[in-house]
Amino acid sequence: MPLRTPDEYIASLRDDREVWFRGERISDVTAHPVMGKAVKHAAIDYEMAESAAYRDLAVVSEGGQTYSRYYKIPANAEDLLLRSRLIEAATAEGDTLVVLIKEIGTDALFALLAVTAQMDDPVYHQRVRMFYEYCRDNDLALATAQTDVKGDRVKRPADQADPDLYLRVVARREDGVVVRGAKIHTSVTPNVNEVIVLPTRAMSEREADWSIAFALPVNTPGVKLLTSPFGDGDVRPGERPISARHKMMETMTVFDDVFVPNDRIFLDGDTRRAGALALTFVEYHRFTAVSYKLPLVDAIVGAAATIADYNGILGATHVREKLISLIVYAETLRALTEKAAQRCVPKATGQVAPDPLMVNMAKSHFAHGYHTAVQHLQELAGGILVTGPGDEDWTAPETRPYLEKYLVGRNGVDAAQRMRMMNFIRDLTASDYGAYQEVLAIHAEGSLEAEKLQIFRSYTDNGSAQRVMALARKMAT
Ligand SMILES: Cc1cc2nc3c(=O)[nH]c(=O)nc-3n(C[C@H](O)[C@H](O)[C@H](O)COP(=O)(O)OP(=O)(O)OC[C@H]3O[C@@H](n4cnc5c(N)ncnc54)[C@H](O)[C@@H]3O)c2cc1C
Repeated sequence: MPLRTPDEYIASLRDDREVWFRGERISDVTAHPVMGKAVKHAAIDYEMAESAAYRDLAVVSEGGQTYSRYYKIPANAEDLLLRSRLIEAATAEGDTLVVLIKEIGTDALFALLAVTAQMDDPVYHQRVRMFYEYCRDNDLALATAQTDVKGDRVKRPADQADPDLYLRVVARREDGVVVRGAKIHTSVTPNVNEVIVLPTRAMSEREADWSIAFALPVNTPGVKLLTSPFGDGDVRPGERPISARHKMMETMTVFDDVFVPNDRIFLDGDTRRAGALALTFVEYHRFTAVSYKLPLVDAIVGAAATIADYNGILGATHVREKLISLIVYAETLRALTEKAAQRCVPKATGQVAPDPLMVNMAKSHFAHGYHTAVQHLQELAGGILVTGPGDEDWTAPETRPYLEKYLVGRNGVDAAQRMRMMNFIRDLTASDYGAYQEVLAIHAEGSLEAEKLQIFRSYTDNGSAQRVMALARKMAT
């Protein structure tokens, strides 16, 4: 099977899927003014595979087969580094917004392959393998729905007032199961072909019905996508240079008594492996996350240095300090991301995963520092981020001369140049898009506390306790 073209990808989304937006059923997501933008953004994936500049990075040719690099099962550190570079390059093409239509789905596939390989019954691994090959060979776009709506966060799935607050099996048939529940915050669902569903947490022995993983085409009857309208406002390209062109969509993904055929069920009732699957997915997915954060933090550093220069303050001591702390922030993230690949750990069947300690340190470092990085950038830019003129003020002959005269920067920096950079920073940090990135930094790919927990769990004793005890003994003698 050849790789799909951008047009073939877009055409594949016109399949009568049940997508809702602001209370209205959308018949064609590709033609919708807001959703169409997200579709165009996602098509970057397929454009890169066709472009001479990216083909070597975006496409793998081996054993007479050609397929998207996202589907390359990582066998060593080099595979992980190339995957990271591709994710970084695609996000840079998206002007700081991740593409995600293969990244998150292959994270789930790698986790499913690793976990099912350890099951006593080989049928689940065979099913995952077949599904993986089907997606790879047809160059499909994928979403992963893991996060449940969860109700009372402290109560287990089986103890919720409504058992459907975690997705579960409600009926069993000879040829499959029927599932009910709702996953939340599912990215890119309206513009992919398949949705992979994973458990969100470890399960107890009482929770066999909640221990379920499967995949379905998005247009399966009973799958309903309630799309978040966040960021659907009027975005003028001058004022919002990023979000006027790029968008990602999240859905509440409702499974209203949906039939899942046997060949699409990858885990069913195995309470012990539900938690392992949830965790293995997160190991892969946080590596994707830190890879796609790199163009974002690079943009913050570059914008901070540029606007400081335009404002004439580059020589000030406090400005230098802020720029240095931004550089350290960005480059520490890059170093930890690379280290996570280099220190990869073996999984089943010759596959590797990024080192969980390094990945969680990278993600935690990014998430804890992001708001401070934004603060530094906004501080260097000035209040005009939210008080500046609109696109129309630049075209009206009565107002433009005042903008040109009064909004200049240091000698040699004209108003249009300075305000272009200001608008970029505004979109990056002080718009719906900026707010989206801030919440994404804290919550996506797991909350701050989840990362801390994993850092603690994955730290293996490096002998420091023994060394300090030996030191204490030596000092006591
Ligand atoms: C833009 C965006 C895109 C996303 N995309 C996807 C996606 O494609 N697929 C997907 O599956 N998920 C996705 N997510 C979900 C993401 O992984 C979750 O947001 C994250 O796991 C946190 O879950 P939550 O938002 O439900 O918050 P909650 O879990 O409700 O957390 C809220 C607060 O409660 C705390 N808390 C939660 N439980 C407990 C407890 N038992 N005890 C004490 N404190 C607790 C948390 O630490 C946090 O401080 C996305 C999220 C965002 C914001």
